[in-house]
Amino acid sequence: KDISGSGIRRRFLEFYEQRGHARLPSSSLVPEDPTVLLTIAGMLQFKPVFMGQAERAVPCATTTQKCVRTNDIENVGVTARHHTFFEMLGNFSFGDYFKKEAIQYAWELATKEYGLDETRIYVSVFREDDEAYAIWRDVVGVPEERIKRMDEADNFWAAGPTGPCGPCSELYWDFHPERGAEGADLEDDSRFIEFYNLVFMEMNRDASGKTAPLKNKNIDTGMGLERMAQILQGKPNNYETDLIRPIIDKAASMAGISYDDADDATKLKLKVIGDHTRAVAYLVSDGVLPSNVGRGYIVRRLLRRVVRCGRLLGVKAPEGAQAFTPTIAEVAVGMSGDCDPEVANRAPKIYEEFEREELRFAKTLGRGEEILADMIAAAKAKDAEAPELSGDDAFTLYDTYGFPLDITTDVATEEGVAVDVEGFEAAMEIARTLSRDARVTVDVTAGDLLATIADELGEPTRFTGYGSLVEQSVTV
Ligand code: ATP
Ligand code: MG
Ligand code: MG
Ligand code: MG
Repeated sequence: KDISGSGIRRRFLEFYEQRGHARLPSSSLVPEDPTVLLTIAGMLQFKPVFMGQAERAVPCATTTQKCVRTNDIENVGVTARHHTFFEMLGNFSFGDYFKKEAIQYAWELATKEYGLDETRIYVSVFREDDEAYAIWRDVVGVPEERIKRMDEADNFWAAGPTGPCGPCSELYWDFHPERGAEGADLEDDSRFIEFYNLVFMEMNRDASGKTAPLKNKNIDTGMGLERMAQILQGKPNNYETDLIRPIIDKAASMAGISYDDADDATKLKLKVIGDHTRAVAYLVSDGVLPSNVGRGYIVRRLLRRVVRCGRLLGVKAPEGAQAFTPTIAEVAVGMSGDCDPEVANRAPKIYEEFEREELRFAKTLGRGEEILADMIAAAKAKDAEAPELSGDDAFTLYDTYGFPLDITTDVATEEGVAVDVEGFEAAMEIARTLSRDARVTVDVTAGDLLATIADELGEPTRFTGYGSLVEQSVTV
């Protein structure tokens, strides 16, 4: 059976098609839903149906959804299982089947279609969900020692602060069955990986935090493609699966090194490059361009981190080229066809954005690194025990040298220095307030021009002096 990333994706979609689900396309990474900045899960495109605001087009559906989760940026390469960009395979029921069928399908997919050893699958249910517990135990036949009750934090899923939500049940894979079921802790990621989440979406949370039943009982699920690939391909992490490893190998070969021989710090940088390059390629394809606001700033942060990691590893631009990131991006674009056929069509635009942003950042990166090294030395001199970079320093790097906070934190962490993140945010807030005041002042003198630009940008603008260009202010 085909255990390549493409094979796993295809088999999931066919499995659910054979069980009456309509195969629908992934929606854009830029969601129509205003409550989240980027598409974080497969259910987002169906939210109006779950909420009862739109008619269902089909009773049940299956998709592979492009997702980006910025809350996992810091986990990239640090955990074995988190990406910023990943594909979430899902099956959805819009008031059609519910808990029992969803659980049975998931079990059959995992154990029959993918052939996982059932004694190595653990499941979790929401603490109060006796019904799900009973289905796992009595209908599926999972022994009680492998069914765990968990709290809201893990087993009550919500797409955001408001909207559809419900208790969920997760499937975990056990990498170390020899350790036994007694005392097994599903949150111990040296042993377990969560690969499939089944949400029993039957509630809606309003702005005041109150939950009320939805009109229909729905099913919303998500299985991480990269995680299933890790399990089936027998790799130690998602990054070494065929879905990402080729991007890493490209970067490594451009630096004249090999991933397998590299130390952990080098591997981490290669994983960041592999992950972020893929994310940026898909984001640009969906029309998100590097900028200083909102989604655009997410692209900028990801791309600049690739640039810095690449430079540290000694990744060289090909003969005759000024930038190296487009060549790495080619590998990500080349692998995108089964997930999103549009990416290849937009390849020239994608490479252009990689190059432009790399060169823009390259101008200030060297100088910024020198300044940061001085700041770190000063922080160590000031407090050798617990050195900390001040929020103002981090803000200077950000404001003058274009260092997103992630990069400053990366460097400081490598040097054993903490960063005052709250102080950084405070400095940012002050700058924002000043820029708002500046805008008010400027509106009076420069007529409506700046206000118009501000409106077009959809964000407050920062006036940087008469005669100079207007800069966008920043939302992180
Ligand atoms: P975790 O607890 O491991 O962070 P999660 O509970 O946040 O995962 P869900 O919101 O339940 O994840 O998403 C459904 C599925 O999508 C997960 O079971 C997992 O397979 C996959 N997934 C979630 N986040 C990521 C990520 N950052 N990178 C790769 N796959 C992910
Ligand atoms: Mg998570
Ligand atoms: Mg989880
Ligand atoms: Mg989960």
